[in-house]
Amino acid sequence: MKQLRVLKPFDPWKSELCTCGEKMSFNPYTGCAHQCDYCYATYIPRFWEVREKKDLLRRLEKDLKELDSDVFVSMSNSSDPYPPVERERKLTRRCIQLFKEYGVKLLVVTKSDLVVRDLDLLSEMDCVVSMTITGCDKLEKFAPSTEERIEAFREIRDTVPAVLRFDPIIPFVNDSQLEIIELCDPEHVVTSTLKLRFDSYKRIVKTIPWLASALEKLYFEEGERIGSYYYLPSDLRLFLLKKVERFCESIGTTCGFCREGIDFKAETCDGRHLSSSFKNVGGSYFGGWDVV
Ligand code: SF4
Repeated sequence: MKQLRVLKPFDPWKSELCTCGEKMSFNPYTGCAHQCDYCYATYIPRFWEVREKKDLLRRLEKDLKELDSDVFVSMSNSSDPYPPVERERKLTRRCIQLFKEYGVKLLVVTKSDLVVRDLDLLSEMDCVVSMTITGCDKLEKFAPSTEERIEAFREIRDTVPAVLRFDPIIPFVNDSQLEIIELCDPEHVVTSTLKLRFDSYKRIVKTIPWLASALEKLYFEEGERIGSYYYLPSDLRLFLLKKVERFCESIGTTCGFCREGIDFKAETCDGRHLSSSFKNVGGSYFGGWDVV
C-alpha cells in the first residue's frame, strides 16, 4: 500500500487478531476529549488534548489524488472525529466534503451524536456509520450519554447504513446490557471484550473501585497477554462474544468480533459489507485478524 501523508494503512503491524482486511485509517484530530477510562490509545502523548493536524485539508487532498479508489477509509480509529470543538471548527465536516468530492468509500466510527449534523453529506456517499454505545457512561465521562447516542443512532440508521459497536464488553459492568442492541436495532453489531493495559486498569478501578479484584484476577492472573494488552481467559471471551452473537441472531442482526481471534458469521467484522460497493479485497477475514 502507498505511503501517503495523512491517510495511513490501518494496522500497519498486521496484528494476527485483526480480521479487517485492507483499509486506510484517518484521524482529523490527534487526541480525544471523551476521556474513556478504558481507552486503548493513551500511549499517544497528551492524549486528552485535542489538536488539529497541521495543514490537514491540503495534505488530505494530496493523498486523495493518489489513493486507490477501491480502498475504504476508516475515520477515526485512534481518536474520535467528533470532539466538542468540531461543532465550531467543522474540520471533520470539511474532510468529509473532500472524501465526497473524490468518491471515497468511508467508514465513520464515533461516540458522538454530532455526526448527525453531517448526514446530509454522508447520505450522498458510499459510507457506513458506526456508533459506539457501551452503556457505561461512568467510564466515558465526557462522551455524549447513552440516551443521546441511542437517539442519534436511530437517526443515522434511518439515513445511512449503520453499525452499532457494543464495544468493549466489560465483565460485570455491561455484559448483560444487551437491550442496548435491541433499542438501536442496527443492521450489524461489532463487539469485543475489554483489553487492558496497566494505565487503563488504574483509570477504570479509580472510577469503579469494586471492580479491582475481579479484573486483577481475570486479566492479570488468569488471562493472557497478547501484544501489549491483557485479555480475558479465552473460554470467557468466547462465552461473552457468543452471548452477544446469539442475541444479535435472535433479533435478525449480524455480528462481528474485533481483534479477538474467534470466528464469527458476519461477512466483515467492521460492517463494511453494508456499503453499497463492498468488495472483499482483504484476504483472510479469519485466521489472518480494530479503538474508539
Ligand atoms: S476510547 Fe475512543 S472515544 Fe474514548 S477516549 Fe479513546 S479514542 Fe476517544
